[in-house]
Amino acid sequence: MNDILPDQTPVWQFLESSVKSVLAAYGYTEIRMPIVEQTDLFKRSIGEVTDIVEKEMYTFDDRNGESLTLRPEGTASCVRAGEEHGLLFNQTQRLWYQGPMFRYEKPQKGRYRQFHQIGIETFGMSSADIDAEVIMLSARLWQKLGIADAVTLQLNSLGSNEARAAYKEALVSYLSARKDELDEDSQRRLSSNPLRILDSKDPQTQLLLNDAPSLVDFIDEESRVHFTELCEMLDQAGIAYELNPRLVRGLDYYCKTVFEWVTDKLGAQGTVCAGGRYDGLVKQLGGRPTPAVGFAMGVERLILLLETLSAIPEAVKQPFDLYLAAEHKGLQTQLMVLAEQLRNELPNMRIRVHCAGLKNISSKARQSGAPWVVLVRSENDSLLANLWYNSEPTYDIQVNSLSGLLQQQQA
Ligand code: ATP
Ligand code: MG
Repeated sequence: MNDILPDQTPVWQFLESSVKSVLAAYGYTEIRMPIVEQTDLFKRSIGEVTDIVEKEMYTFDDRNGESLTLRPEGTASCVRAGEEHGLLFNQTQRLWYQGPMFRYEKPQKGRYRQFHQIGIETFGMSSADIDAEVIMLSARLWQKLGIADAVTLQLNSLGSNEARAAYKEALVSYLSARKDELDEDSQRRLSSNPLRILDSKDPQTQLLLNDAPSLVDFIDEESRVHFTELCEMLDQAGIAYELNPRLVRGLDYYCKTVFEWVTDKLGAQGTVCAGGRYDGLVKQLGGRPTPAVGFAMGVERLILLLETLSAIPEAVKQPFDLYLAAEHKGLQTQLMVLAEQLRNELPNMRIRVHCAGLKNISSKARQSGAPWVVLVRSENDSLLANLWYNSEPTYDIQVNSLSGLLQQQQA
């Protein structure tokens, strides 16, 4: 679980505000859920035999002996909240959320025990257009962030729950006959969560899978049409994708569309955004049947990617635009007043006032990292401002012309 330090938070804010502006452009509204839920919610939604529920949850009893869990993801909480407040039945919703998620995993680059997701969940829409929209929205975000060239879209259809069940049976029967050749994890999954075997990185298992029954052959007609429509919309919108018949996603609740945005720039933790359709989940959690599509992106991985690609605009890392200092202590009161005046007149300029000792003040001011530095001094009873831009002395003017000059420069 990481501290996010002041030199990093501007990058987080840059990412968050970019996402928010894209979400606003699609008419999505924010929902905020609690960080803890009853443990049972995650067991019933994510699935008892998934990695998350089997070994990754932070679960504890509260003082009342009730089992609670720090949320490992947002979808279950969002469905719970939507159901509890009557947002789902007979309505359409386009929601987004952000915040920390918790999973007890082996920490490594791009994988942490407290990490952050920004996710969207849409409810009440069963046709492929909304699947297309959530993908288009994410594609637009990569454009906006300047990382579009570094991510690719992997796409698959899992078919209906029935189709998936039939496929599961065929896969288990094929793999059971070859159980000895499977890696250890996959052997275990054969009885618990066989579809996850498709995710296995083990080369021997991968070889076996080459001749295994293919999910594509089990997809029901309705799902096939749905998927074709989705692909057509993406084609028309110029969004490239790779069909990946082995993409199944780790959670139990997906059906029909599943997708992941992956990058090869981050090593093993290459999935930056993942989602799909989960038409069965609302009913499974006790609501009336409600179709749903969503995704979640990993904020830490996106930030790693932005850094790897040097895609963070220089200005983002600058916490202020102007550093204001006085040449000697007697001017400090006037300096404070001047700073307030400038903030009135230049509300968009971020001004940091020098409030510490005055030793080497002029070199300290110039090293502050701000593009603008102003050193105030008094001469013959009038206040003068020595203005530096990017470490170059640029103007020497009366203090009362400072605001006008800065306004001009900003424009
Ligand atoms: P992975 O296969 O990498 O474990 P996942 O399938 O468990 O991912 P999801 O539950 O789909 O991940 O979560 C959506 C996104 O959240 C992931 O694609 C990833 O970007 C991010 N994410 C998931 N777990 C972590 C983690 N422990 N640390 C950082 N980011 C994570
Ligand atoms: Mg995982």
